[in-house]
Amino acid sequence: MEILHTAAALQAYTENCRRAGLRLALVPTMGALHEGHLQLVRAAAQACDVVIVSIFVNPTQFNNPDDFRLYPRLPEADANMLAPAGCTVLFLPSVEEMYPKPSVMKFDFGALERVMEGTHRPGHFNGVATVVGKLFHLSRPHQAYFGQKDWQQVAIVQQMVADLAFDLELVSFPTVREADGLAMSSRNRRLPAEARTVAPRLYAALQLAAEQLRQGASAAAAQQAASAYIASEPAFTLEYFEIADAQTLQPVSGWHPGQPVVVCLAAHLGGVRLIDNIVLQP
Ligand code: AMP
Repeated sequence: MEILHTAAALQAYTENCRRAGLRLALVPTMGALHEGHLQLVRAAAQACDVVIVSIFVNPTQFNNPDDFRLYPRLPEADANMLAPAGCTVLFLPSVEEMYPKPSVMKFDFGALERVMEGTHRPGHFNGVATVVGKLFHLSRPHQAYFGQKDWQQVAIVQQMVADLAFDLELVSFPTVREADGLAMSSRNRRLPAEARTVAPRLYAALQLAAEQLRQGASAAAAQQAASAYIASEPAFTLEYFEIADAQTLQPVSGWHPGQPVVVCLAAHLGGVRLIDNIVLQP
């Protein structure tokens, strides 16, 4: 596995691969890798000849300076996990390398970002689109892998790929969970032990809402039941609990067979902000 630190080195590398007729996959991450990331890498390695994994804690997508400062950074441990999973190139740039000049261009994803993470983390998706767009240009992958744990992010990146005609296939991968249901996340490392024991309630709340919707409850009733369940554990502060059309992300009044719906939440627990979602397919 090669480790590259500069944009120029990555561009040169991927250009050679393209010339040699190889298929390239990109897996963008912020590091502190877990099994969820590794499953993306393994899936990419199955489908492509070259797997580029980027690790970059992107300052422009953090609206909370403490979250950026405390975000776990473990580059050596990450590098050791990547080669066995099938990573060919680890791209590990500095902030100066990714942002030689402050970027001024702004993305506006319209209704897609006027909900959930977009509302609660102002500027977040502008930072995501900026860095993902740069990574797409530097690595020119045939495929790019993203996790459904960040459902809204997948929708936003899909929109950017379409609007800017990026010549790549976006592959979205189901959420990988701990045995007790907690969605794997780099931020889980920061959960105090006591908080970690109650954290699976978030997934249980999503399942509760999904079950109610399947039985014909209105979105408002399902949302209320799930929110009350979360509130019964005082360690949680619920930021949002939304039931939305899985494609447009706009609120729905209930679940109707034929309409994929996503149930999304964000909550604070033990000083950590967690997100999760569940999708109801037709
Ligand atoms: P992050 O390092 O958190 O920015 O995540 C990098 C990529 O891995 C993103 O596309 C995430 O959606 C994806 N990812 C993170 N956690 C999981 C998980 N538990 N299951 C599947 N994909 C994940």
